[in-house]
Amino acid sequence: MIYEGGCRCGAVRYRITGEPLSAGYCHCGMCQQAAGAPVVAWVAFRRSDFRIVKGEPESAQANARAVRRLCGECGTALTFEYSAHTETVDVTIASLDDPNATEPVYRIWSSPRLPWLHSEGEDRASRPH
Ligand SMILES: [Zn+2]
Ligand SMILES: [Zn+2]
Repeated sequence: MIYEGGCRCGAVRYRITGEPLSAGYCHCGMCQQAAGAPVVAWVAFRRSDFRIVKGEPESAQANARAVRRLCGECGTALTFEYSAHTETVDVTIASLDDPNATEPVYRIWSSPRLPWLHSEGEDRASRPH
């Protein structure tokens, strides 16, 4: 399968050749602040399947061990990945050209979840974003 996506202004585009590994909602505080949104939906792919095909995203430190990438022009959040954990990259589902191509099936970091936000999915323990 081929999945394509990019930022809102079109300066950064990516292409994935491979199947998604998993997809879910992250309710953690980092995602909330970085996106300015109550939750972020992520889909994981093998890093070897992911490449930037246009432009160069900016990097921002997400936490001590991970970086997130975003468009420096329009600010769209694109990816999250661990510096040391190089096998997978998390991609924001909403930046896919077809966000219906995959569907979140789990939730992580449900504890900081805002009580007014209703989301579905199996609660899973996971590494922090
Ligand atoms: Zn952009
Ligand atoms: Zn998160």
